[in-house]
Amino acid sequence: MNASQPYDAAIIGGGVIGCATALNLARGGMRVVLFESDGLCRAASGRNAGTLTMLYTRATLIPYAIRGREMWRDAKEWLGRDAGFHHRHGLELAFSEEVAEELAVQHRLRSEAGAAIEMIGGNRAREIEPALSEDIVGAAYSEIDGYAKSYGIGILFHAALRDAGVTVHDGTPVLGVEPGPGGHVVRWAAGEAAARLVVMTSNVWIGKMAAWFGVHFPIAIRVNQGTISERIRPLFKSILRVPNELSLKQFEDGTVLMGGGRGEHWVEDADQGDVQQDINIINSKMAGAAECAQRVVPALREGRVVRTWTGYEGFTPDNQPLIGPMPGVEGVYVAACLRSGFTIGPFAGQLLADQLLGREPEMPVFASEFDPARVVGMEPYDTEGPSQVA
Ligand SMILES: Cc1cc2nc3c(=O)[nH]c(=O)nc-3n(C[C@H](O)[C@H](O)[C@H](O)COP(=O)(O)OP(=O)(O)OC[C@H]3O[C@@H](n4cnc5c(N)ncnc54)[C@H](O)[C@@H]3O)c2cc1C
Repeated sequence: MNASQPYDAAIIGGGVIGCATALNLARGGMRVVLFESDGLCRAASGRNAGTLTMLYTRATLIPYAIRGREMWRDAKEWLGRDAGFHHRHGLELAFSEEVAEELAVQHRLRSEAGAAIEMIGGNRAREIEPALSEDIVGAAYSEIDGYAKSYGIGILFHAALRDAGVTVHDGTPVLGVEPGPGGHVVRWAAGEAAARLVVMTSNVWIGKMAAWFGVHFPIAIRVNQGTISERIRPLFKSILRVPNELSLKQFEDGTVLMGGGRGEHWVEDADQGDVQQDINIINSKMAGAAECAQRVVPALREGRVVRTWTGYEGFTPDNQPLIGPMPGVEGVYVAACLRSGFTIGPFAGQLLADQLLGREPEMPVFASEFDPARVVGMEPYDTEGPSQVA
């Protein structure tokens, strides 16, 4: 292989989607380079709650989430290593009949899309999880939820990418992409590389990258939060969720991870996140998460919170991902703002790679509802409006 030859593909953004895309392209025979500003999977992909869930994935994405979950289960086969997958049941909980009815409506759509979700009463929910509060009147029950250990996957991807022959430039923010010999030139502070195809998998940073090509994507940046407790005696096994508020899981070591928290938190610029994030909101979400967790499982009062952290999620105006060609720019592709992106990420990377390798993807990936061109000219997601986080 000639080192001065252009790469077949340059991937910009080393989260789960960028890493999975790079891995599959390289295994499909392409010469691939991957750029990541920080370390692999250290942004949302390494900070998320790790829930592999049907209960809060958008109905249109359920078939993708089912396959994504299977891929985390089978990580040894394609990633070469176990990703800490655990099969768990999922329970989305209602404290009132009104909420139970809303859940029934929402989950009908998900069930029609292929997720086996059924509504059960409060007593049945407590048979499944005896530690649940007596105040719970009903729940949506998913047979196939689960989790994988998101915080360890950057290391796993590093090894797999190396074995597949991908050149990884981590700690390397890309500064721009210009037309060049053989396609495009990717530029960073200390150098540049030519590539035939460019794939931008930069999630909330996609707006900045689109601007390199004079394209405006209206992306809203939501601050999501995780909070973890000290070790507590085993209290529950299922993944629990309170709609629009919190997910809750207890790991084998006894710690309880609370994902989310009440209230919305948005920033304008992810690169200014350290100054734009509001410490008062972070503190109140942490306290709210602990309070909500105790409302769900009263015995959690025994434990203390030890740490809270934040990460970013990108919202498009219609809350669907951006996957497809960069409008008006040949040879440049986008895969970003995929909510439930940890669950779906490995499968999204496989589909995208198959599409770019000229193979028939197992499910549509350059679909019209994901087409990045659709959001150009749209009003941004209404961050003041009613929550559509579910
Ligand atoms: C707190 C939290 C909890 C969540 N919980 C869940 C959950 O339980 N289940 C679930 O399915 N999903 C969850 N999510 C969502 C999920 O984490 C994301 O959808 C997914 O990780 C997105 O992956 P990604 O590869 O698109 O983006 P990211 O992981 O954000 O990766 C994008 C990468 O691009 C890099 N980048 C940006 N600009 C440049 C540049 N100029 N040059 C080079 N690199 C650049 C960034 O450094 C970053 O590493 C959660 C998210 C958060 C924040």
